[in-house]
Amino acid sequence: MTLSGLLREGREALQAAGIPEWDLDAWYLLEYAAHCTKNEYFLRPEKEVLPQEKQLYRTLIRKRSAHIPLQYLTGSQEFMGLSFFVDENVLIPRQDTEILVEEALRALGSGMRVLDVCTGSGCILLSLLKLCAGLEGTGTDLSEKALQVAGENARRLGVEASFVQGDLFEPVSGKYDCIVSNPPYIASREVDVLMEEVRDHEPRMALDGGEDGLYFYRKIAAQSPKYLKDRGRIFLEIGFDQGEAVAGLLVPAFDEVRIVQDLAGLDRVVCGILRS
Ligand code: GLN
Repeated sequence: MTLSGLLREGREALQAAGIPEWDLDAWYLLEYAAHCTKNEYFLRPEKEVLPQEKQLYRTLIRKRSAHIPLQYLTGSQEFMGLSFFVDENVLIPRQDTEILVEEALRALGSGMRVLDVCTGSGCILLSLLKLCAGLEGTGTDLSEKALQVAGENARRLGVEASFVQGDLFEPVSGKYDCIVSNPPYIASREVDVLMEEVRDHEPRMALDGGEDGLYFYRKIAAQSPKYLKDRGRIFLEIGFDQGEAVAGLLVPAFDEVRIVQDLAGLDRVVCGILRS
């Protein structure tokens, strides 16, 4: 079997399975399974692949045809220009979330303490630690398995962070300069109509924000002041239609509450400064 023969097989299978990005995904999986970059492919498309590479590719194509997200198959997702390890225990980092990181970076500086509630893969906290020298960071998550992924990411990125298991602030002590969070925020009934990749393969507990999607924002808005230093800041990722509601939850305890839009012009982040 040649590289081009294998690629043809993969493209056809993914297209037949109705995978939207079938062409791209067939390529990514070939690069992963046959350890061959696109450049190498075009230099020698008729190169023979090893039997184990062929077997691995076919297994991955079968899994992708069953709508398992590409990132769980390759075990990685890029976020803020960094490579994160992911598996089915964590939400796959989204590009939308980079807005939150960029917004928080503007307010952070050396010596500050930052707390990431619902850290998942650790993508938010670890990007902040990597991109702003001298920060001290803590991440919490209810899922022990997610924290194992976050710990693995800290190790791979060579940053020091402390990860603690528990519900929101439950395992947290002390005060922070900044709280960041991308909590689950999809209304329960809307989870069931998400695309198959997300609905059936990403952790439901990382998506489901209760009946109206605001369950975690209510708790975070109420509890965060206790864990913030005077004039400490909060940055929350939100769904495109949750700006007003989440800003409303912060207003009683926070000043300068703002809604920040993403590159598509949709509301994406709500932030504020703890009122003294
Ligand atoms: N903080 C993680 C992320 O942004 C996980 C979010 C979540 O599980 N809801 O990807």
